[in-house]
Amino acid sequence: MNLDYTDDQKAFRDEVRAFLDANLPERLTEKGRGTRALTKADHEEWHAILNEKGWLAGNWPKDFGGAGFDAVQRHILEMEMTRAGAPRIVPFGVAMLGPVLQKFGSKAQQDHYLPRILNGDDWWCQGYSEPGAGSDLASLRCEAVRDGDHYVVNGQKTWTTLGQYANMIFCLVRTSKEGKPQEGISFLLIDMDTPGIEVRPIVLIDGSAEVNEVWFSDVHVPVENLVGEENKGWTYAKYLLTHERTNIAGVGFASAGLDSLKRIARAETDGDRKLIENPHFAARVARIEIDLMAMATTNLRVVSAAAAGQAPGAESSMLKVKGTIIRQEINALTRTAVGPYAMPFQSEAVEGANEAPIGPDYAAKATGAYLNNRKLSIYGGSNEVQRTIIAKTMLEL
Ligand SMILES: Cc1cc2nc3c(=O)[nH]c(=O)nc-3n(C[C@H](O)[C@H](O)[C@H](O)COP(=O)(O)OP(=O)(O)OC[C@H]3O[C@@H](n4cnc5c(N)ncnc54)[C@H](O)[C@@H]3O)c2cc1C
Repeated sequence: MNLDYTDDQKAFRDEVRAFLDANLPERLTEKGRGTRALTKADHEEWHAILNEKGWLAGNWPKDFGGAGFDAVQRHILEMEMTRAGAPRIVPFGVAMLGPVLQKFGSKAQQDHYLPRILNGDDWWCQGYSEPGAGSDLASLRCEAVRDGDHYVVNGQKTWTTLGQYANMIFCLVRTSKEGKPQEGISFLLIDMDTPGIEVRPIVLIDGSAEVNEVWFSDVHVPVENLVGEENKGWTYAKYLLTHERTNIAGVGFASAGLDSLKRIARAETDGDRKLIENPHFAARVARIEIDLMAMATTNLRVVSAAAAGQAPGAESSMLKVKGTIIRQEINALTRTAVGPYAMPFQSEAVEGANEAPIGPDYAAKATGAYLNNRKLSIYGGSNEVQRTIIAKTMLEL
């Protein structure tokens, strides 16, 4: 297995760097590096810049308007974007729904929705989880009953990330109670402006409201918004989740977070020396760096296998578990590094552009990021559930 870049891949990396140098607005990198919250307009601006270049959907085939990048090119693009402090590409349309529509959607759905994802006409959110149906997703109860040329949807979704920005939601709904729970699930595309939909924000421990409850009361959805076949939604849902989990490891984010931690530890003092010179602190940073290097190598193994046409197996679960632990440790150590400035609750300084942070700029988000990133080990399939997958597939338990 060769983990080195070829000359062509190095040339592509240089092209990406040059593009980012020339086109990534400084205003967005400052926010992306973590002192201020990104707005909907910020995300849309960055998507539009990438789309103009043809790189918004690196994972889509060219026939569907994507960049048609191979696994290594996608890896390079992701690493370089995080290194440069670019906002992440919002995953719901590009990374999640797009591949599902390309594989299972009708021609009419592909023609209508895929260009709208690329040009920013639609902002999608993900309606999978419900109260009581998270890890055990197949027990979902939100119901869609066929009535002529419509489905009538009743029920609730929860933890819907950025649902407050979305005009469209892809939903798993129950269309049958016969047989196994997995056999009665369908995949529906729902316009959020349809009468009967209510979005209620859930305010998180860091003060942000990035997730929501979405309620459906007699919501009429045209039957042509069904993806694939009725009661086959579980297959499409699982296909989507493999894309969600490989994206979630976040090697690039962890590398950027570690760089930021080192910058802070060089700026902060510990008595008459820099914090980074404190042997105890330096040893903790080194521990994270070693773990990150090991994870980056595993990530390259997965990328290399994907480039050779193999599907990732339990490695994507390993990357999810390890990647999220590393990012949470970086958050914890960043809080330690900023010392007393980690104490004030600075949500106003993060959310509102006019509020000056207490202490150095990099301290404003330290506590918020620490609290917010508790989510990493929960969503996309909790780490406990991933460990069971690893045990079953690699240890043959
Ligand atoms: C910030 C955030 C954003 C999210 N965004 C979205 C979104 O946009 N769309 C969406 O549909 N969902 C979203 N989710 C939901 C997410 O997918 C679920 O939270 C996740 O699947 C866990 O489900 P649950 O919260 O119901 O917890 P539960 O499944 O009730 O789990 C509770 C605890 O029990 C453990 N557990 C459960 N089952 C097992 C098992 N079999 N073996 C061992 N341990 C187990 C879990 O690991 C966890 O620690 C989001 C969640 C968060 C926190």
